[in-house]
Amino acid sequence: MERADELALLMTLEMGKPVAESRAEIVYGAEFLRWFSEEAVRIDGRYTVAPSGKGRLLVMRQPVGPCLLITPWNFPMAMGTRKIGPAVAAGCTMVLKPAQLTPLSSLALASILTEAGLPPGVLNVVTSSKAGPTIGPIIADPRTRKLSFTGSTEVGKQLAAQASDKLLRVSMELGGNAPFIVFDDADLDAAVEGAVIAKMRNTGEACTAANRFHVQESVAEEFAARMADRLGAMKIGRGTDPGVEIGPLISRSQRDQVSELVDDAVGRGANVMVGGHSDREAAGYFYPPTVLTGVPQEARVLREEIFGPVAPIVPFGSDDEAIAAANDTEYGLVAYLFTTNLGRAFRVSEALETGMVGLNQGLVSNPAAPFGGVKQSGYGREGGREGISEYLNVKYLAMNVGG
Ligand code: NAP
Repeated sequence: MERADELALLMTLEMGKPVAESRAEIVYGAEFLRWFSEEAVRIDGRYTVAPSGKGRLLVMRQPVGPCLLITPWNFPMAMGTRKIGPAVAAGCTMVLKPAQLTPLSSLALASILTEAGLPPGVLNVVTSSKAGPTIGPIIADPRTRKLSFTGSTEVGKQLAAQASDKLLRVSMELGGNAPFIVFDDADLDAAVEGAVIAKMRNTGEACTAANRFHVQESVAEEFAARMADRLGAMKIGRGTDPGVEIGPLISRSQRDQVSELVDDAVGRGANVMVGGHSDREAAGYFYPPTVLTGVPQEARVLREEIFGPVAPIVPFGSDDEAIAAANDTEYGLVAYLFTTNLGRAFRVSEALETGMVGLNQGLVSNPAAPFGGVKQSGYGREGGREGISEYLNVKYLAMNVGG
């Protein structure tokens, strides 16, 4: 555990999240290695008789080949192991390009894997402050067979276009705009608890972060008041200080972007229940946890990925209205849904246009689950049984058995 603590501290110093969250990420990241080490021995195939009865069909799965893995800064350890784990288990070699803001976490991870016995050359980390010119030649190299990217939708689209020239196998884990729906029959304590987790993990800098809260009219006021109490009481500060729950945002531009989204909403008539202002000249890129009500539909904060600790709350009337509002986005990574009505839980879950749904829980990340999105949140899945298939090709052997 000492080693995990060192790594957690390194991650906090590098990108700012509270040490407790860094520790949780080390465990989450390590779980991908465990899960995929167990999956490595379950790469199976099949043997069948051809319909004519004359031949035999043997189906095997083989490593896709050298992979290019590109990761973001917000979960530098887990986004790495979520790709490295299945790639190694499938038998692939790889080049990992971490975000320029968090190369140290990835280099530390690589050195641990080397220490653990990963053969030389299997994992190659390339750091760079010029992503485009560094990545271009690797995508164009005829040895590269697969691109797995986690990051923004904008960059993902550019890379998918580049990769199409070589028809690479591609996985894209992109941005989100997660709706968090609370029905009037929900357990409100659980909904607030789930909302705090879904919104505040990593100071809101997560693709899975609840971006907008759709709450049924009769409970909207109470939900907003409870959220304001909870978020307003959170301790903000340096990630290494004891008891800190909310660290700084990753950069000045990120903080300014969050400020602009809040200012835009307020300019259009939204009310600030808590937070809502940061001193742009102050040291550190802190932004206070913020709850907004009366947010008009056209406000940017409802349409864009916030990547900060801001919770806009919007009331709805019927189930159909909730579903329509939740799906009114080009993104489709995850949605959260709180209800105690079983039929409603299934109906709404099925109608949501997302790759994942958190039902009465504010966290969906799990190494055993297929993580990924639809629409402009990308394609491909990481984790679970599906995760290893992304690194395997299917080969079929047609056998003439005579007779
Ligand atoms: P980003 O700007 O798209 O960067 C992601 C990675 O792509 C970094 O390593 C970056 O390198 C690299 N990159 C940037 N421009 C490139 C180019 N032209 N060619 C090749 N590589 C390039 O995203 P970010 O700001 O780091 O991360 C935040 C985004 O990631 C959010 O939208 C979030 O939702 C998304 N995300 C999605 C998931 C998911 O699983 N769906 C998980 C986590 C985060 P540099 O750092 O050198 O620019």
